[in-house]
Amino acid sequence: MHSNLFIDLAYVAVAVVFILGLKAMSSPVTARKGIVWAGWAMVAATLVTLFFPGMQNFALMIVAMLAGASVAWWSGKKVAMTDMPQMVAIYNGMGGGAAAAIALLEFTKGEVHGMVAAALAVLGALIGSVAFSGSCIAFAKLQGIMKKAFRLPKQDAVNIVLAAITVILGLAIISADHPGMGWIVVFFILSLILGAIITAPIGGADMPVVISLLNAFTGLAVGFEGYVLKNPALIVAGIVVGASGTLLTQLMAKAMNRPIRNIIFTPITGEAAEGEAIEGTMREMGALDAAATMRYASRVIIVPGYGMAVAGAQHKVWEMTELLEEAGVEVSFAIHPVAGRMPGHMNVLLAEAGVPYDKIFDLEEINADFAQTDVALVIGANDVVNPTARTDKSSPIYGMPILNADEAQNVIVVKRGKGTGYSGVENALFYKENCRMLYGSAQEVIGDVISHVKSMG
Ligand code: NDP
Repeated sequence: MHSNLFIDLAYVAVAVVFILGLKAMSSPVTARKGIVWAGWAMVAATLVTLFFPGMQNFALMIVAMLAGASVAWWSGKKVAMTDMPQMVAIYNGMGGGAAAAIALLEFTKGEVHGMVAAALAVLGALIGSVAFSGSCIAFAKLQGIMKKAFRLPKQDAVNIVLAAITVILGLAIISADHPGMGWIVVFFILSLILGAIITAPIGGADMPVVISLLNAFTGLAVGFEGYVLKNPALIVAGIVVGASGTLLTQLMAKAMNRPIRNIIFTPITGEAAEGEAIEGTMREMGALDAAATMRYASRVIIVPGYGMAVAGAQHKVWEMTELLEEAGVEVSFAIHPVAGRMPGHMNVLLAEAGVPYDKIFDLEEINADFAQTDVALVIGANDVVNPTARTDKSSPIYGMPILNADEAQNVIVVKRGKGTGYSGVENALFYKENCRMLYGSAQEVIGDVISHVKSMG
């Protein structure tokens, strides 16, 4: 039973389940199943590792696994949907840190043999350390422990010089027969500082993209260290995370029209958003008028955003939708790829409330329909419906594809006050002639609309 064949076969099976799980995650219908499969595959891979020849310290490993699993179980149960990005950041950072720690240990034990293994160990250590410290900074910012954006004087030059010194040191370690411990420690410290200073100036709407990028880095680091440890499960898991993380990062960057280069070198801080000043006033509307406008419309498109998630209003929104449909109104949902704080955020919330998938449309599928729609109901969304992105070249969000809610005959915007969205940019939609503001927290406001629609019979 303790043969390598058993371990190898088990790892192949685990790799296959990882990939099938990932495939299942690509559709909301099968996503939950995919996550459960991948989770069990991870448990299996961890248990199989205990059968490796020459394994020692079982008690210590079991204590570590129990401690890690209980913290993860507890925090996974407790985390609010809106705090998910920082949760992903910190767990992802732990993965990068673990990969870097493996490299450090293997160097310490003198078990990195050959140029290729040394190069991959150093690369994994560098990328893993950057992912670890970068993710810790991302977590601290999103959790509100740290100021949103912090920029050093001549930041780009500092980044480049520090990166160059770290890479040169890494090359020296790779080419040395027996690299000195002192150099290795300095290399790790520089890599950690590099991750922290690259991430510190990034803020505002770019943060989730950076988390996804660091996640891809962690995958790469784990894959490289898998080669050093000759562990195929680590190599496969690392490559899967690295590849999917890279694709997700690209997808998010494209949806926000923010090249990765700009995210790292010219961050939107959310603190001093420029752009042309918008003229005009915002006009208010009450829940009764909003209810009547929608009740007697033939078509309504709902655009949910981050505010709906904060308010937890998805159940009320679905209740309102059912009432409107009973009254003969055709209602659909338009989802922007970066609505909320992570990709798929709105889809998950709407699915949780029981909204059927065939009522939910992506930006490309529905954008042309706004012009033939009586009412666009924007619930806690802001940046994703900001027409400034189409028109104002000086705006930091210029070029980001947006949902064309402004093209509907009437636009109703539910939000608490005059606050800007995540990017900090003023929204030109709110000042348009066809737009009315329905102020209040989404849960209560939609509750009021529901009672008015009911009273209309
Ligand atoms: P925004 O962050 O632009 O706007 C949310 C709005 O919700 C605010 O203007 C706020 O206004 C309102 N709001 C907050 N709380 C409530 C409440 N309780 N009830 C009603 N309204 C509320 O959200 P969007 O979804 O439009 O845009 C997402 C942003 O996040 C984009 O900038 C995107 O680029 C960014 N982002 C998203 C990623 C993703 O993957 N989803 C990834 C990276 C970035 P008020 O304070 O007045 O209530």
